[in-house]
Amino acid sequence: MKLPIDFKNKYRELMGEVESEKFFDSFDNEITHGFRINPLKEKVIDENLSKPIKYTEFGYYGKINGKSVNHQSGAIYSQEPSAMFVGEVAKPQLNEKVLDLCAAPGGKSTHLISYMHNTGLLVSNEIDYKRSKVLTENVERFGATNTVVTNSDPKTLAKKLPNFFDRILVDAPCSGEGMFRKNPDAMDYWNLDYPVECAKRQREILIEANKMLRPGGELIYSTCTFAPEEDEQIIAWLVDNFDYSIDVINKTDNMNDGRPEWADNNPDLQNCVRLFPHNFNGEGHFIAKLTKPNSEIESKKLKPFKLTQLSKEQTELLNEFINLTFKTSPKFTNLVCFGDELFVLPNEVPDLSKIKISRLGLHLGTFKKKRFEPSYALSLAVKPDQISKVLPISEEEWQKYVHGETLSVDPSLEKGWYLLTCQGQGIGFSKVVNSVAKNFFPKGLRFAIKKD
Ligand code: SAM
Repeated sequence: MKLPIDFKNKYRELMGEVESEKFFDSFDNEITHGFRINPLKEKVIDENLSKPIKYTEFGYYGKINGKSVNHQSGAIYSQEPSAMFVGEVAKPQLNEKVLDLCAAPGGKSTHLISYMHNTGLLVSNEIDYKRSKVLTENVERFGATNTVVTNSDPKTLAKKLPNFFDRILVDAPCSGEGMFRKNPDAMDYWNLDYPVECAKRQREILIEANKMLRPGGELIYSTCTFAPEEDEQIIAWLVDNFDYSIDVINKTDNMNDGRPEWADNNPDLQNCVRLFPHNFNGEGHFIAKLTKPNSEIESKKLKPFKLTQLSKEQTELLNEFINLTFKTSPKFTNLVCFGDELFVLPNEVPDLSKIKISRLGLHLGTFKKKRFEPSYALSLAVKPDQISKVLPISEEEWQKYVHGETLSVDPSLEKGWYLLTCQGQGIGFSKVVNSVAKNFFPKGLRFAIKKD
C-alpha cells in the first residue's frame, strides 16, 4: 500500500527505523474480519464459530454475510476485532446509566447492550442524522429495550444531563489511520495537520462528556488512529484539566502499552492500550479508561420523562393484543405515546425535551382503528418462547418476506398475529388470514437477495 510520505516520515521518527518498517509492512497484510454473537438472541446456527476471540466473550474471527438471517435478525454483528476490545474495556455493569456519545453505526453500542442485558439505561447518541438512522436500525435489530437513541450534538446533550451517567464511552471521530487498510480512501483526507484538527474536536467533545459523567464515574476514550495527538496527548490533557486518573487495562494477545514519551511522560499513560496491526491481529485502535475524581457536590435530581396515560380504549386494545400474543402477559410500565405510536421506556429516562430522539426504548406498536398493530422492533426484542403463536419459516420464505411478499400458510392455521421465526430467530410479526401470512416487514428495510 502506498502510504503518504509525511505519514511514513512521522512514524519513522516516532517509532524508529526497525519498528516503523514492521508497522508500514503490516498495511500490506490482509484485513482482519470478525463478528460478535448477540447474547440476547437464540443460539446461533449456520455460522462458523470455530475461531473464538480470546479477549471477548462474544467475538469470533471470520467474515459474515450482511444479508443473512443471522445478521438481519440481530443474532450476529460484524465488527473488526480491535474495535471489539473497546466494548470489552468499557464493559458496563447491570443497571448502570451509560452514554455512548459518538455511537453510529452502533458497533460499540450493541456490544454495551450485550453486557447490560436490557437493564439500566443506555443513551446511544449520534450527531449525524443519517448515521443516527442506521444506529437506530442496528440497536433495534439487537433486541435492545433499554436504549434511547438520540441525534444530538454533545453540548446540547450535556445541558440536559449534567452529572448523570455512571459510564461514558467516547469513541471519537478521528483521523482514522487504522482504517487505511480497510478503506484506502481514508488516506485522501490525511495530511500532517489532520490529527491536530481532529484533536481539537476531540477535546470539545470530551469537555461535554466530562459534564455528563458523575463524580467517580468511568470514561472510556477510544480512536481508530495511531496519532499521538489524538491518543496519549488527549489523555494527558484530560488528566491535566480535569484531574482524571488513568486506569490499568489488562493486555493480552500482543496488545501494547500506551507511550508516555509521545505525550507528557506521565508513566500512567502506559495503562492505556495500543493495538498495532504489526503486533495485534486487527486493524488498530487506541483505548484509555479513566476515572473522574469523586466530589462532595450533590448532583441535582433530573426531571423524569413525561409518561402517557393511555385512554380506556387504548388500554383495552393493548391488553387484548398482549393477552392473545404472549404466553404470560408482561407488565409494560413507563408507556409513552407519540401520536398513535406506543413506546415502553427504560427506567430512569430523564426529561429529554429539546433533544432529538430517534428511538425511545422499545417501540411496541401502533394504535390503529379498533386494533393494535405490533412493531417490527417488538418482534426483534421478544423471545420466541414468550409468544403463543409462532410460525417457523424456511430461509427461502424468509427471502420472500424481506422482499415484501406475502407467504402461503397451512389453511388450518388459526387467524391472528404470529411471530415469524427463521433459523430459530424472531424476524417479524405477521397477521395470518385465510391461508396467507401478510407482510409487515418495514418498507424502508426491504431488500432482494440475488441468486448466484
Ligand atoms: N462508535 C461507533 C461504532 O462503534 O460503530 C463508531 C463511531 S465513529 C468512530 C465516530 C462518530 O462520531 C461518527 O459517527 C461521527 O458522525 C461522530 N461525530 C463526528 N463529529 C462529532 C462531534 N462533533 N460530536 C460528536 N460526534 C461526532
